Amino acid sequence: MSPAFRSLNLVFLGPPGSGKGTQARILSERYCIPHIATGDMLRGEALRRTEFGTSVKAYMDRGELVPSGVLNGKVLQRFDRDDSARGFLLDGYPRNLEQAGLLDDLLAELGRTIELVVNFKASDEVILKRLAGRRVHPESGRIYHVDFNPPKAEGLDDETGDALDRRDDDCGDVVQQRLKVYREETIPLVDYYRKRGLLVEVDGDDSVGTVTATAMKAVGSQVGL
Ligand code: AMP
Repeated sequence: MSPAFRSLNLVFLGPPGSGKGTQARILSERYCIPHIATGDMLRGEALRRTEFGTSVKAYMDRGELVPSGVLNGKVLQRFDRDDSARGFLLDGYPRNLEQAGLLDDLLAELGRTIELVVNFKASDEVILKRLAGRRVHPESGRIYHVDFNPPKAEGLDDETGDALDRRDDDCGDVVQQRLKVYREETIPLVDYYRKRGLLVEVDGDDSVGTVTATAMKAVGSQVGL
């Protein structure tokens, strides 16, 4: 069945550990729109040891933003694919005002616009617990949590049975660095989108199911679903 909207272009904002990646996966599936996650794209490149992946890995391991140039090009190219014609869910992009401006310019060129920006808020206590217990399936980016969202068999991906991993940047001091970068570079986007009437805030401290329901309600009322 074709989804009941003409266009659904969504941006998800939130600190690391706010649950936005988990929610992005769920909502992109529900609405049949592609989940465009720059972190997943970058980790995929690093895993495949492409020239680009190798060049950005050190930034990611330090918890810093990777230089925008090549990454911007890859995100923009992503909109050329047919699957994003009726909508997309951007997760982890834009990450600063420069990227937000660039995204606006590109969408304007394509005659498209952002329908809604969902900001997932979370307390530091919850963020730290989530990052400490997060496990990922490196190939697909599927996300688990040892307590809050455990896999069916401990330590193994539900679909492939492959071993789950901890992300390098979920460990040690890198977490604090990522939170610092978020506060300095990404938080200004909250006001940027609020001023344009595009922002809705969701309490990311709640359970996965509750946050999904709140986020879907917000999306539904914005686009008239
Ligand atoms: P994430 O999976 O969204 O937490 O991103 C993991 C890491 O990838 C970040 O700490 C950055 O190093 C890098 N990254 C992801 N998205 C961006 C972006 N839009 N701009 C710059 N760096 C990014």
